[in-house]
Amino acid sequence: TPSRKPLMAGNWKMNNNHFEAIALVQKLAFALKDTDHDAVDIAVLPPFTDIRSVQTLVDADKLRIQYGAQDVSPHASGAYTGEISGAMLAKLGCAYVTVGHSERRQYHHEDDALVNAKARAAIANEITPIVCVGEGLEVRQAGEHVGYCLKQVDGALEKIPADRVRTLVIAYEPVWAIGTGEVATPQDAQEVCAAIRGRVGELYDAETADQVRILYGGSVKGSNVAGIMTQADVDGALVGGASLDAGEFVKICRYRD
Ligand code: PEP
Repeated sequence: TPSRKPLMAGNWKMNNNHFEAIALVQKLAFALKDTDHDAVDIAVLPPFTDIRSVQTLVDADKLRIQYGAQDVSPHASGAYTGEISGAMLAKLGCAYVTVGHSERRQYHHEDDALVNAKARAAIANEITPIVCVGEGLEVRQAGEHVGYCLKQVDGALEKIPADRVRTLVIAYEPVWAIGTGEVATPQDAQEVCAAIRGRVGELYDAETADQVRILYGGSVKGSNVAGIMTQADVDGALVGGASLDAGEFVKICRYRD
């Protein structure tokens, strides 16, 4: 039987300066001090400008809260004004980086090939990519959501070997549920997460499918997380809005209570 460790990751998006970041991580650390970090991984994904401050706090207080970034350049270094490399993020102790978030796909025209290049840049630096996929409302209404998401998974995983796929994270985030307050039902989340796991099994092998962690994201809150976490193929949550509130994010992390 698979023993996937749940992951609760807070995507702060473009919120919190580095002072606010320290304050929020301190609150989380205090509220989570009795949490069994062997039973659940807890991560925050602040803006780039906050990461050094978060690293300093986590190191100084030996916190078991993990952290990461929201994007990474597909390039290793060089004349790419404004971009941040995987090596830079690794140097800051980032454990994760989201790639292909729907806001990046929508506002920055990121396609599956770029998402794949970013995932590989993360892996090259021992950072776990959190590969985001998810359909918009029209695709969902047309009943084509499973095929749409699997195509995004195929594109994102190209040329990534099985041993690296086993450690990566895929987040199913239906665009119609992001920031809208309209959470997918546990069954909706399970349908697509199970299909993604099945696809990983087809592309690789059963062991890889068993080990890859698949998150649900989209209007997750303290009040709805437990239902989502009952689903067999949902291994955690990628949390936007609710991760900005320490109390709410702690409730999500303590979904078993
Ligand atoms: C997200 O953007 O990753 C997300 C899940 O946002 P929210 O929780 O605010 O819907």
